[in-house]
Amino acid sequence: PGEQLPHDPKLPTVVVLGNGWASTAFLKELDNSGYNVVVISPRNYFLFTPLLPSVTVGTLSARSILEPTRFLTRHLKRKTEVYEGEVYEVDPEKKTVRFVDNSEIKGEVDGTEISYDYLVYAVGAENQTFGIKGVKENACFLKEVWDAEKIRTRIVDCIEAANFSGQTQEEIDRLLSFVVVGGGPTGVEYAGELHDFLMEDLGNWYPDLADRIKITLIEALPNVLPMFSKQLIDYTMSTFQENKINVQTKTMVKEVQEKKLIAQNEKKELVEYPYGLLVWATGNTARQVTKDLMNRLSSTQNSRRGLLVDEHLRLLGSDGIFALGDCTATNYAPTAQVASQQGRYLARVFSKLHKKELLLNELEQAKQVGAEPAKLDSLANAVIRASNIAPFHYSHQGSLAYIGSDKAIADLPVFQGNLAAAGLATYYFWRSAYISQLFSLRNRLLVGTDWLKTKVLGRDVSRA
Ligand code: FAD
Ligand code: NAD
Repeated sequence: PGEQLPHDPKLPTVVVLGNGWASTAFLKELDNSGYNVVVISPRNYFLFTPLLPSVTVGTLSARSILEPTRFLTRHLKRKTEVYEGEVYEVDPEKKTVRFVDNSEIKGEVDGTEISYDYLVYAVGAENQTFGIKGVKENACFLKEVWDAEKIRTRIVDCIEAANFSGQTQEEIDRLLSFVVVGGGPTGVEYAGELHDFLMEDLGNWYPDLADRIKITLIEALPNVLPMFSKQLIDYTMSTFQENKINVQTKTMVKEVQEKKLIAQNEKKELVEYPYGLLVWATGNTARQVTKDLMNRLSSTQNSRRGLLVDEHLRLLGSDGIFALGDCTATNYAPTAQVASQQGRYLARVFSKLHKKELLLNELEQAKQVGAEPAKLDSLANAVIRASNIAPFHYSHQGSLAYIGSDKAIADLPVFQGNLAAAGLATYYFWRSAYISQLFSLRNRLLVGTDWLKTKVLGRDVSRA
């Protein structure tokens, strides 16, 4: 990295919480010559979530879709502080945040408080369980990189347990039942990847067991992927049928036990699904730190979905806090596309705020030295222009999802309408779209190499 400007105590401090899609897009676009920037997040890297389902079966290795935040902030004009820590309290009155080191290794100091002038609040969301009994204890989630690695290990562990000498027939069938709850894009993409692993790899290495592996996707609504157009939903359903993925719609999971779950079907009957591995993907809910912040601002923050912001992403009821991404409750879906556009927008807002600050100083100095009225007028007009910040506007670039067996689906906005595409060509489009969106050349090379390795050598079935 080139020479960066040092910390300047005279400048305002921007504390950025999180280094996911929203914060990373903000940091990548930010001109921080007018700010001291501090990033705090429990992980020290950005995770490219759209390719996370591929990590669950080893199509991609986890490290190929991570990028250290220090690497991503090396281009900023002024040196950025990056702390690995979990924020547990935001005080909007005192303008402070408290955070702790929650990792395995801690030093003598493992908790502290920091003050901000501006807070960029983008801590994302956590997995929704609707308080259903047994989910947290027994299911795997698919949000973080360790979730995907845990799923990968467990798939192979289930198969090895089923293969154990003298295993009972009933237990083999349970261990080889892979159940996914939630027919949103996360659940569908994971089911598609699991099918590929079964067809392309497990059949070769476990020929006696592969035929008995059963993939079941349970969805409460009448359809999977409600955000996609009808023809793409039908295409996904028929592809899943061909691929023998058992889709149970209008089925609501009520309870999860260690080896089986209980769901209510369309006829209101309770049905049991024994499982070896259960992946739970029923969307998002607010994190505890976000709920606490809402409670502190309860007169304005009254949405259960997340934080309420104005059209410039300012947190309602607060001063100096901007909130963006999955932690907010807006009219937009909680997607990377929205979060990254909000991050880029906010970086532009900060540039304007800095410009306004500089112009105000210049105006003040001009007044002090008795500058000509024309000069004062022009500076005052420039301040007004810099104060005029357009509201956030979301531009939808389309929705894409991989559904397995080299097929993807895409809803793409064209002119005033929508183009729905599906199949092999869409799969190549999906791949090229994601590879171009990866944040670094390093990630692109690693992902490209992983795809090639999977094609040529197959996926690894070691339980490492
Ligand atoms: P995140 O990206 O979740 O980032 C939150 C950040 O906050 C993280 O860095 C986290 O470590 C940090 N954090 C958490 N708690 C704290 C705390 N207490 N203090 C400080 N920091 C904290 N969207 C799409 O548009 N297209 C896709 O193809 C797509 N695929 C997806 C696939 C999967 C498997 C998943 C799970 C999601 C997918 N999404 C996709 C949705 C997308 O990932 C989210 O909408 C996006 O990550 C939201 O960005 P964010 O910055 O708000 O939150
Ligand atoms: P989601 O909210 O999109 O879908 C969750 C599904 O779970 C819903 O269809 C819901 O009806 C179902 N469900 C809830 N409770 C249930 C129960 N008890 N029993 C059975 N089914 C139940 O969640 P997601 O798939 O995790 O996605 C979260 C966000 O991330 C969404 O905004 C999504 O668009 C985005 N995302 C996008 C992509 C992509 O574009 N390819 C991929 C993954 C995630």
